[in-house]
Amino acid sequence: MLLEFYGGAGCVTGSCHILKVNNTNILLDCGMFQGKDGHKGENFNFPFEPRKIDYVILSHGHIDHSGRIPYLYKMGFEGKVVATNATKELCEVMLKDSGNIQEMECEHKNKYRREKGEEELEPLYTLKDAENSMKLFYGYDYNKEIQLNKSIKIKFRDAGHLLGSAITELFINDNGEEKKIVYSGDLGNKSRPIIKDPSTVYNGDYVIMESTYGDENHKEGNYFVELIEIIKETINKKGNVIIPCFSIGRTQEILYILNGYVEKGEIKCKVFVDSPLAKEATEVFKNNEFVFDEEAKKLLNLGDDPLDFKNLSFTKNVEDSKCINSHKDSCIIISSSGMCDAGRIKYHILNNIEDEKNSIIFVGYQCNGTLGRKILNKDKEVKILGKIKSVNAKVYNINGLSGHADKKGILSWIDGFEGNPKKIILVHGEDKVREKLAQTLENKGYNVIKPFPGDKITL
Ligand SMILES: [Zn+2]
Ligand SMILES: [Zn+2]
Repeated sequence: MLLEFYGGAGCVTGSCHILKVNNTNILLDCGMFQGKDGHKGENFNFPFEPRKIDYVILSHGHIDHSGRIPYLYKMGFEGKVVATNATKELCEVMLKDSGNIQEMECEHKNKYRREKGEEELEPLYTLKDAENSMKLFYGYDYNKEIQLNKSIKIKFRDAGHLLGSAITELFINDNGEEKKIVYSGDLGNKSRPIIKDPSTVYNGDYVIMESTYGDENHKEGNYFVELIEIIKETINKKGNVIIPCFSIGRTQEILYILNGYVEKGEIKCKVFVDSPLAKEATEVFKNNEFVFDEEAKKLLNLGDDPLDFKNLSFTKNVEDSKCINSHKDSCIIISSSGMCDAGRIKYHILNNIEDEKNSIIFVGYQCNGTLGRKILNKDKEVKILGKIKSVNAKVYNINGLSGHADKKGILSWIDGFEGNPKKIILVHGEDKVREKLAQTLENKGYNVIKPFPGDKITL
């Protein structure tokens, strides 16, 4: 049995590992490289023959894990994509959106290429490719045995990272020898809104584990309260609250938090969610209430839809979006992208950033070079949609909302195993961070491997 690494090895994005056993080729995720990880056109290359892949086991819907499935399909993959039901549904929304983005970005480049008389480029994949690739998806429940073929069965366990996210247990008969691999996917935090905590896994011979925050712990503190205090203060001053927010996962968490305070009568203003993707994703969440955590289920049983409340509205089109600006009273606007580098959020930032009564609250990581990072860095002026604007609004950063387990979380998950696995293979983390986690693990007596793209391990 051979495990080969391609993406997400020594970096965070592009998760893709290949397991070869008894003539069966399984991809563990097929993610897109993002930001600097993908700058050399890595997304256009597969170091394997897509036609020869039998299965993709998909840990969750995030694009850095699922984003190249339509491209795999376009390049000839005809196997099965195996995922949880919720992941399958989220992919339907996310991959189509990704197809649209690929087409738009490509067209943008081609406009200049045509002017210069250069040859036009082809998008990585189109909306149609994304739609067609969905025919290869098979959705399953958590905690059920899924027999892939005679010698391989798998089980999805809750990873607590995003709706539908899974830790995968692979039970393999390798020429008569029973072996178990555990693929952590992205591990979540405990006590997240809506979704369950990461499941404890009790055993495994080989563990492929993420390491994103392997060298630090998240700040302790009640970020719900922090968020609500800022909102109340801003509304009291008759200002608006702008929350740049990733449409899938994070937006629903914010809605869940707001729901509690609206139901208690503590927040009375209008809440706009200005992102068509967030609207669709919220519907997927509602379709999958049975995988919610106990707290969210309790609300449902009491008749309270935790993702819906009085004064909440989702915009349907650009016209609706423009109308938000003419809303007279103070309001909360949740819009994407989370880093303010694209999408409708730019208009809301443009319209609100110069008024000191308003607040901009960041709830996710801001990459270097993005508008979000510039605002967070307290630049006095920023350029938005071609206009120079002064940053007078109050700017906040609530980083307790990370979707990933921190060092403590990762260690407590792996320490949950009864007896040390033979090997822990660290993926999905910057090399520097991974190095530190590896040292911590080695000090605890674990055998750690830190693969890079192209590395192969015999298991
Ligand atoms: Zn993720
Ligand atoms: Zn990830």
